[in-house]
Amino acid sequence: MSIQTVNPNTNKTVKSFEEMTEKAVDAKVEKSQIAFTHWKETSYQQRADLLHKVARLMRIKKLELAKTITLEMGKLLAQAEGEIDLSADIFDYYADHAEAFLGSKILNPEHGSAIIKNSPIGVLLGVMPWNFPYYQVARFVAPNIMVGNTILLKHASIVPQCAAAIEALFEEAKAPEGLYTNLFIPGKRASALVADKRIKGVSLTGSEAAGASIAMEAGKHLKKVVLELGGNDVFIILEDANMEKTVEWAVVGRMNNNGQCCVASKRFIAVEAIADEFIKKFKAKLSKMKVGDPMDPATELGPLSSEAAAVHLEDQVKRSVNQGAKVLLGGKRLNRDGAFMEPTILSDLKPGIAAYHEELFGPVASFYVVKDEQAAIDLANDSDFGLGASIFTEDVERGKKIADQIDTGMVFINHPTWTQADLPFGGTKRSGFGRELSELGIKEFVNKKLIRIS
Ligand code: NAP
Repeated sequence: MSIQTVNPNTNKTVKSFEEMTEKAVDAKVEKSQIAFTHWKETSYQQRADLLHKVARLMRIKKLELAKTITLEMGKLLAQAEGEIDLSADIFDYYADHAEAFLGSKILNPEHGSAIIKNSPIGVLLGVMPWNFPYYQVARFVAPNIMVGNTILLKHASIVPQCAAAIEALFEEAKAPEGLYTNLFIPGKRASALVADKRIKGVSLTGSEAAGASIAMEAGKHLKKVVLELGGNDVFIILEDANMEKTVEWAVVGRMNNNGQCCVASKRFIAVEAIADEFIKKFKAKLSKMKVGDPMDPATELGPLSSEAAAVHLEDQVKRSVNQGAKVLLGGKRLNRDGAFMEPTILSDLKPGIAAYHEELFGPVASFYVVKDEQAAIDLANDSDFGLGASIFTEDVERGKKIADQIDTGMVFINHPTWTQADLPFGGTKRSGFGRELSELGIKEFVNKKLIRIS
């Protein structure tokens, strides 16, 4: 059975779920299609009322929902509660702002008059990952429900209880049947579903392989697709950085969510002048992290999301070491049950070494020393990924000039790459295309219809 809750703190299976049959999925797609014919006629106020209810329920049930996240994928409980707050904020934000984002726009053409009207396109399929089981869903679903689209959601197979809980929130908020539907199906069946004529667009957050599979189907069937894929974000430390604050952020940037954020700081690039000071302080902090049960409030680093993820990460570290990388800290699995990996720092990374090119999705930092600012920019851009980047300098103008030269979808100055309800999120290169959140994200699955009057 592929859809299961397995507690990564112990690697014990807690609960298994049945895959839905083809017939059951077909019936759910049909209900979503029928729901669309009604939902597209609702007012922004009706849509907003529903989303506010969902947000309110999330806040009321915060601890219960957060515990499910921690149980299924190992996030520290306090961080899981933070994720519920952020997700509720996203629901409220789009309830309050969607109408302004989606209002008609009057054009001033040379001849005649014209307007652009934004209208929904229909049933959307969302394919989401386990690393932020509520936030990933919220950022896709809240804007699109405000647009008037309806949602089929295929969540990651390792977070079925989170997936079911989100659907239950919509039910409890009295959403019309078919507006939000959870699908218990494995990844391959999600790709196949893209062919269904009733589905008008698809958004995937996940790995490059899953993204390519969905994009291939979307291409074959000429459907709009948004992809939010992996990242290998840099964290650049310049000689004028505030070292104490920078080191604090470096720990958060790498270790938040047990190191499993697409926009985690993964490649730490320090200029020569301050490299020794930075690595000494960074290493000291990582070596003191309390690793253990994510339900325990004293724990600072929990397990990876699954045994398979831990095996994969350890293999990436081993391959890198065999290819010439040095281990400055950690480098091994923890000697206990569960999907644990030691806080790890790798150095001496060059092209050809696995850790130079691959995304390390866990508590493993890559450390680089470069001559100067230009070398930091060149190294930052020598990546197939283009999601986010962060630059630490006390000179914000200098930071902005460097940001212009970095080939990513997002650049943060004096903060690790992060997300909030009112800012766009997305990448370039192999990190995907399209945007989520903000006015840019809400217009991805919208018919921007031109009406021209003579
Ligand atoms: P994954 O295996 O790609 O899983 C993500 C989702 O895609 C899951 O629902 C999965 O279903 C589904 N899937 C897998 N294979 C598929 C296929 N062939 N066709 C259609 N769907 C398929 O991703 P992961 O490795 O667990 O997640 C981590 C990756 O996601 C990292 O690379 C991370 O950087 C990226 N990520 C990106 C962002 C962003 O916003 N850019 C945010 C978070 C994570 P099953 O679980 O059933 O396999």
